[in-house]
Amino acid sequence: MSNGGLDALIEALRCLPGVGPKSAQRMAYHLMQHDRAGAARLGNAIQHALQAIRHCRRCNTLTELEICERCASPKRDPSLLCVVETPVDMNMMEQTLAYHGLYYVLMGRISPLDGLGARQLELDRLLARATDGQVREVILATNYTNEGEATAHYITTMLKSQGVGVTRIARGVPVGGELEFVDSGTLAQALRERRVLAG
Ligand code: ZN
Repeated sequence: MSNGGLDALIEALRCLPGVGPKSAQRMAYHLMQHDRAGAARLGNAIQHALQAIRHCRRCNTLTELEICERCASPKRDPSLLCVVETPVDMNMMEQTLAYHGLYYVLMGRISPLDGLGARQLELDRLLARATDGQVREVILATNYTNEGEATAHYITTMLKSQGVGVTRIARGVPVGGELEFVDSGTLAQALRERRVLAG
C-alpha cells in the first residue's frame, strides 16, 4: 500500500504559515475523510488563483488586473504614496477612511536574518514609482518593528535628494506593533500625525 499521495498532501499543506506537521496531518485527513468537495474547491481555487493573480504594475499588490482598481481610480490623490508591507496593511489603512492617496505594497520587509534585502524586495521598482513626477509625498507606513523600521530607514535614504518628501506615520502604533493588529482609530491618528523624514 502506498501513501504517497497523502504524504505529499500533508507536506504541501505545511507551506501554509503556522502549520506544523501535526496540523497538516489533521487537515489532510479531514479533507480526504470528511470534505472531499471542500478539497476540490480548494484545489480549483488555488489553481485558478495561480493562473489569474499577479502583481499590479503600479502598486505591486495582488490583483487579476494589469493595474488594480485602486490605482486606476480617478478619485485618489496621485501626489500621495503610502508604502505598506502587505496587502492586509493596505486594507487597514483603507479602513481608517483617513487616506485618499495611492499605495505601494512592498510584499515584505527588509530582514537580513531571512536573507531579505533591498534587492529581494525590488525596491528599485518603488524608486521608479515614487519618482514618476506626480508623487509629492511618500508616507512610510511600515510596521513599528525592527524590520519595519530598518525598511523605513532604507527607503528614506533611497528617496533622499529625489525631490519627494518622506514622512513616517506617528507612533500611535505601539513599539513592536504590527499595523494588522492596530485599531483603525489609532491608525488614522498615526497617519494624521506623521512626521517628516526627508525632503
Ligand atoms: Zn495597484
